[in-house]
Amino acid sequence: MMFWKLLKKELRMIDIEKYNHNNIFAKVLRKEIPSELVYEDQDVYAFKDINPQAPIHVLIIPKKEFCSLDDFCSKANEKIVLSFMRSIGKVAKILDLKDGYRVISNVGHFGGQEVPHFHIHLLGGKALGKLIG
Ligand code: AMP
Repeated sequence: MMFWKLLKKELRMIDIEKYNHNNIFAKVLRKEIPSELVYEDQDVYAFKDINPQAPIHVLIIPKKEFCSLDDFCSKANEKIVLSFMRSIGKVAKILDLKDGYRVISNVGHFGGQEVPHFHIHLLGGKALGKLIG
């Protein structure tokens, strides 16, 4: 019984050590599955979350392959890190989020990360309340 429980838990866990080219966001970037584009430049792609948790919920991802925030910060070159960080403000401006917004990045199993391509969630459109409900 314990073994099956552990196995099920194992199967739910994503690998954020080795990049999986078949993850959903890799497919979005390759245009194999559709997405609602909000912003794009040479390094970054931003699109609407399919299951929004706030009136505005956008995912911002680098075009290059990184598994997680941790992977991105340790391996991406400075130009890409800077352009990614700056894209957050650009997206917020496009969406007219003058009253503020929240940025979240889930890392790994305990962080609740489901898609193993680094992304940040940009949430806004209302007062969001406490950080963890
Ligand atoms: P995370 O749990 O941080 O890995 O977040 C993954 C997010 O991706 C979730 O908020 C999902 O709703 C979102 N998502 C999954 N598939 C798609 C898709 N095809 N297009 C847009 N968002 C997606």
